[in-house]
Amino acid sequence: MKIFCIGRNYAEHAKELNNAVPTKPLIFMKPATALLLDGKPFFYPEFTKNLHYELEVVVKIAKNGKHIQPKFAANYYDRIALGIDFTARDLQDELKGKGQPWEIAKGFDGSAVLTEFVPLADFEGKPLEFSLQKNGETVQQGNTSDMIFNFDTLICYISQFFTLQQGDLIYTGTPAGVGAVRIGDKLEGFLFDKKLLHCEIK
Ligand code: ZN
Repeated sequence: MKIFCIGRNYAEHAKELNNAVPTKPLIFMKPATALLLDGKPFFYPEFTKNLHYELEVVVKIAKNGKHIQPKFAANYYDRIALGIDFTARDLQDELKGKGQPWEIAKGFDGSAVLTEFVPLADFEGKPLEFSLQKNGETVQQGNTSDMIFNFDTLICYISQFFTLQQGDLIYTGTPAGVGAVRIGDKLEGFLFDKKLLHCEIK
């Protein structure tokens, strides 16, 4: 199983980190050992002093494919979840500054929180509203209609380079409002009004 992540897929978020808005999708990956299923505690890693949450909509690939054409892309997914792309922002900034790969800042154990999946058909093609609360206060609010590259475009693009396999995941990028967490914080993620994600920082 492969975990793809998309950087800077919401213009307001790209701006808040002083990044340019991309002209093609920015792809990175996390290993399978990064997965942390919803409800399991997240243990604050020792190697960072600035751990950030990034709430994202996660698409699950439903069948194998490569070089997927735009008109067929929608056939490759039918379920979505919420996830957190935990990021050691201090490490990432240091690595980015040197032009080096940022895997250790993004792909460490537990860095990919994942909720249960829900059928996309439940939403009848409507854009998805999602939000994150930290200790009961809303810190991120997103809508998939604000994505720079939509699910179909991401699937076509990724599949030019990597064979997509059933069960692969795509973390589709985070909206503005990312920020730091501390030990004791409680994160809750909502898809519309439904609470799907629960994560406590230990
Ligand atoms: Zn992210």
